[in-house]
Amino acid sequence: MAKKNKKNSPASENGDLPTNEEKKKEEPKKPYKRTYKRRAKPQYKPPSQLSFPQFLKLYPNDDTCLEVVFDMRYPPDENGLRLCTKCQKRTIHIRLIARKCYRCRNCRHHVYPLAGTVMEGSNTMLVVWFYAMYQFSICKNGISAKELQRALGVTYKTAWSIGIKIREALSAVDKDGMLFSGTVELDEALIGGKVRGGKRGWGAENKTCLFGIKERGGRVKVIAVNNRERETLFPLIKLHVEEGSKINTDEFKVYHTLNNEGYTHDTVVHSDYQWSKGETHTNSIEGYWSNLKKSILGTHTYVSPKHMQKYLCEFDFRHNNRNDLIFNQILKKVYGTPYNISVINTSANFSPKHK
Ligand SMILES: [Zn+2]
Repeated sequence: MAKKNKKNSPASENGDLPTNEEKKKEEPKKPYKRTYKRRAKPQYKPPSQLSFPQFLKLYPNDDTCLEVVFDMRYPPDENGLRLCTKCQKRTIHIRLIARKCYRCRNCRHHVYPLAGTVMEGSNTMLVVWFYAMYQFSICKNGISAKELQRALGVTYKTAWSIGIKIREALSAVDKDGMLFSGTVELDEALIGGKVRGGKRGWGAENKTCLFGIKERGGRVKVIAVNNRERETLFPLIKLHVEEGSKINTDEFKVYHTLNNEGYTHDTVVHSDYQWSKGETHTNSIEGYWSNLKKSILGTHTYVSPKHMQKYLCEFDFRHNNRNDLIFNQILKKVYGTPYNISVINTSANFSPKHK
C-alpha cells in the first residue's frame, strides 16, 4: 500500500523524484529521430564460380565451345576480322561445318583452333571437355577420375586422361613468372604413403616431401622435393622469392643462413609451443597444409608421387585464383598457354622413389 501511495502522490509534495507518468506530462513530445547509423551497403563481389544455368547458357554445344576457343586463341578486332597466320592479312574466317576448323577468306588457309591444346586429337565432344573444366571449377576440394567418369558419362580411362590433361595445363608455368615478395612463409610437409608400418614422421621412407612458399595474404606455391636439405631448398627459394623479402619459418636449422642470402629471416620456435611472435608466424602455410591434406585424402585418397606435382599445382591454382571467376581462369590457362609437357611446373630434380 505504501508503494501505491508513493506512486500516486505528486513528487513536489513528498520531495521524491518525479514518476514516469509525471515526466511524460512535463516533457513535450520530441519529433522521432533516427539515432543509429545506417549500415553501409556491402560492396558487390562477383561470384567466383558459374552456376549451372549460366554454364548451360554460355556453352550449350560443341559449335559455341569451338567459337569460344577460336576467339581466345585468335582474337578478332572491332570489325570481327582476324589476322591470318599464313597471308598476314586481317580477314573474315568462315567456319567449315564438317570439320573443327575455320577457313581464311583471302588465302583459304585452314585454321584449327584446337591444334596445340590439350584437346588436339581427342574424340570426346568439346562440350564434355568444357563440362569437365566446369566440374574442376566448382569442386573446391578437387574431383577424382571416378567422379568425372560418372559426371561425363565416359569410360574411366577417358575420365582419368581428361583430368590429368587439365591438371597438366593448370601446371604450366605462368609467363609473367611473378616472384613472391613482402612477407613470405616457408615450410615443409610430408604427404601420402602407401606402405604401412615402418618409421613415422620425417624418417618414413614411403612419403613424399613437399616444400611450400606462401605470400602472406596472397599466392601459394607447393613443390614436391626429394628431401629438405639446403642444396634442395635454397635454389627453389632463390628462384621463387624476391631478394629483400621478409621470410618467416619455424626453427628448422637449414633456414638459419637465409640472412646471408639477402633476405630478412625470422623464426618461431614450434618446439617451445611458440606459434606467433608479433607479426612473425607460419600460420598461413600451416593452414594451407591442413586444407591440402584434407582435400587430397578426402577426394583422391591416394596420389602417386609420379603425378603428385600436377595435383599440387591444381590446388595452388584454385587457391591463387580464389577471387576471380575460376572457370574463365581455367579456360585462359588451358587455351592461353600452348600445350607442351616440358613446361610443367615441377622441381627439376624431383625423382619419386615409389611409383
Ligand atoms: Zn589467309
